[in-house]
Amino acid sequence: MAESIKVVRTVRDLRKVTAKWRQAGKTIALVPTMGALHAGHLSLVKLAKKKADKAIVSIFVNPTQFAPHEDLSRYPRDEAGDLKKLGDADADLVWSPTVEAMYPEGFSTQVKAGSAAADLEGAFRPHHFGGVATVCCKLFNQVTPNIAIFGEKDYQQLAVLRQMVRDLDMPLEIIGAPTKREKDGLALSSRNAFLSEAERSIAPALYSAISEAALEVASGMSAETATSDAAAKLLSAGFTTVDYIEVRDSETLGEVSTLGGRPLRILAAVWLGKTRLIDNVAV
Ligand code: AMP
Repeated sequence: MAESIKVVRTVRDLRKVTAKWRQAGKTIALVPTMGALHAGHLSLVKLAKKKADKAIVSIFVNPTQFAPHEDLSRYPRDEAGDLKKLGDADADLVWSPTVEAMYPEGFSTQVKAGSAAADLEGAFRPHHFGGVATVCCKLFNQVTPNIAIFGEKDYQQLAVLRQMVRDLDMPLEIIGAPTKREKDGLALSSRNAFLSEAERSIAPALYSAISEAALEVASGMSAETATSDAAAKLLSAGFTTVDYIEVRDSETLGEVSTLGGRPLRILAAVWLGKTRLIDNVAV
């Protein structure tokens, strides 16, 4: 049985540990999370262990990336369960600051996310990526990791953070990890717990619809036709609203006028009852 994992809750305690590791010449990988950990998060920890000597997992439900009407108060939390899973996954340290430690009185500086944040999620959640970029900048400065690992599940987030690190010369490498899925294709997400049994049986249609659209685009169908077919399929399968299904440049997330040449990604956000699901696949 794994020993219980060490948790630090202040920057001072965090730096005591990382300073020792640095002195010993160890490399550090950071896996930022908001807790309620599932096998998707744990696959990132596994990759962190492979890529660096020490794996630090942060758990922080960041209030500044939620809008007032979003699900901050109902965001699932299970610290005891998370610590057990991280111990079993052999993570080396958990960085779990309080909101007051992260945003002490007087805090007012922010990072403005770049062009990768301009639309898609950015259009529906205008403050989201500013909050993500700011908290990740702080996490990177607190932990000073050699690498930070993020899931492709949140593909636009990965693009926004890669752009931030490049634009602001932050001395770390961002690594993207593939999306972990249920057997039926549904991407693992802590929000899946909100789905009713009936909704859960409909949910895998999201992955099938975007996968099919990706095949169609790859074989020459126009992006517009493929994505509007996918949206129609989802609505008839029982999804409530399609926020977007779009084919984009896989790096810049810019719109693509002519297909061919650059790698593409299909990104989607849809509502199933009161739950918003996002997913994406490569073309
Ligand atoms: P979250 O706690 O939802 O903010 O997610 C923390 C990290 O885990 C982010 O980098 C996510 O992209 C990643 N992640 C979430 N779900 C999955 C999944 N199903 N597969 C791989 N990574 C994931």
